[in-house]
Amino acid sequence: MIKLYNTANKQEENFIPITPNEVGIYSCGPTVYHYQHLGNLRSAIFADTLHRMFLSSGYNVKHVINITDVGHLVSDGDEGQDKMEKGAKREGKSVWDIADFYTKEYFHSLDLLNINREEYNFPKATETIPEQIDLVKKLEENGYTYRISDGIYFDTSKFSRYADFAHLDIDGLRSGARVEENKEKKNITDFALWKFSPKDEQRQMEWESPWGEGFPGWAIECSAMSKKILGNHFDIHTGGIDHIPVHHTNEIAQSECANGEKYVNYWMHNNFLNDAGGKMAKSSGEFLRLQTLLDKGYDPLAFRYYLLTTHYRKEIAFSFESLDASTVAYNKLIEWCKENKKEDGEINETYKNNFLNYLYNDLGTPACIALMWDLIKDNSVNDSEKYATIVFMGDTLGLNFSKIEKEEIETSDEVKELLKARAGARLAKDFAESDRLRDEILKQGFVVKDTNNGQELSNI
Ligand code: AMP
Ligand code: ZN
Repeated sequence: MIKLYNTANKQEENFIPITPNEVGIYSCGPTVYHYQHLGNLRSAIFADTLHRMFLSSGYNVKHVINITDVGHLVSDGDEGQDKMEKGAKREGKSVWDIADFYTKEYFHSLDLLNINREEYNFPKATETIPEQIDLVKKLEENGYTYRISDGIYFDTSKFSRYADFAHLDIDGLRSGARVEENKEKKNITDFALWKFSPKDEQRQMEWESPWGEGFPGWAIECSAMSKKILGNHFDIHTGGIDHIPVHHTNEIAQSECANGEKYVNYWMHNNFLNDAGGKMAKSSGEFLRLQTLLDKGYDPLAFRYYLLTTHYRKEIAFSFESLDASTVAYNKLIEWCKENKKEDGEINETYKNNFLNYLYNDLGTPACIALMWDLIKDNSVNDSEKYATIVFMGDTLGLNFSKIEKEEIETSDEVKELLKARAGARLAKDFAESDRLRDEILKQGFVVKDTNNGQELSNI
């Protein structure tokens, strides 16, 4: 049984799919106005770990990660500067070029992190504008919208459960409202479904709509894209915890009020990757991205390993010292795999079951990794079984251990001759000679082992 922590009910729950053996997952993806920072990539790795967990238990997984390529306003309150236009100005390019460039960069990062893109759907917000307009029309028909000077808004007072999901204190929000808050809104939590293009400024991205030229509000794209690919009601929605109070709260309100049915069964949120200034963020100007790690010589999968050593619901304070410690451990595992590669081992059932129990318990990846190390040290498991089990564990966590090639040992011609002679002695069943030659090889600094595939050499 798979157990997942559900933000909606603040507790771990048994996972029951809507359709047996199938799972539909929607993960909030990147806003492509800049590179993704390492924190954003934490949310992608979390989503992929969940994806792999379901694959390992035999589910058919339909997984959507959206590409937010429409400009949204810098503040959650639908005010301020448009992010895409901001990116375009910064680089002197068009918003479309910016979106294209950073989408490709995002995909490149996913490839480096061993996130198999072929298993995902990546819809773009700009390609689902008609579906977004349809949803707003539906909300209008159902009586949830009103019009003010800068757009069409959702009236949150009409959705009685609005505050429940994030346990919002609406009175507190009202008294803490900032001066720039839109005074025309009926309620502090009301949000834009469709924004009108400003009269005095030409936007690069704008579309015709029944309400006038403009662009969609931020949350409507996720409601429209999930509906299009996964249907009105689906199993799991993920994102970073920053999305709980506004973005996901608004998604629930508009989807449930438009469709007249429950939106999502399980909400899962990853905690932040922090830097010295707190939550890693792009607005801070300089930020850490995957290329920063590559430039410093780190392996992207060592970064993946590093993140998995902490549970996804816990904060991580990023430091190069802690990444170094993880890299040492990860490299030891890689070395171990290179030195112990065997073709014919069976997976050890006890270790496999324990591993999956940890994973199925709300993605207990730290315990999974600790178990890998226990297994490496366990002398009661034979080498070929151990190797097969470690590879199974690494692959399930997305660390790609099965692709690690056996280390080709550099040897001298002399050692090669000794090996050849020893193979001949073994064929002739001259074991005394074979042992003598093994000792000769040992003196040259190599250990020779006899396996089903012949003699195998390793460094002492
Ligand atoms: P964005 O590109 O800003 O739209 O964010 C993409 C994803 O990264 C979203 O699911 C965010 O919730 C998540 N996210 C943003 N900042 C962080 C962070 N510092 N740590 C972990 N996840 C984050
Ligand atoms: Zn979203």
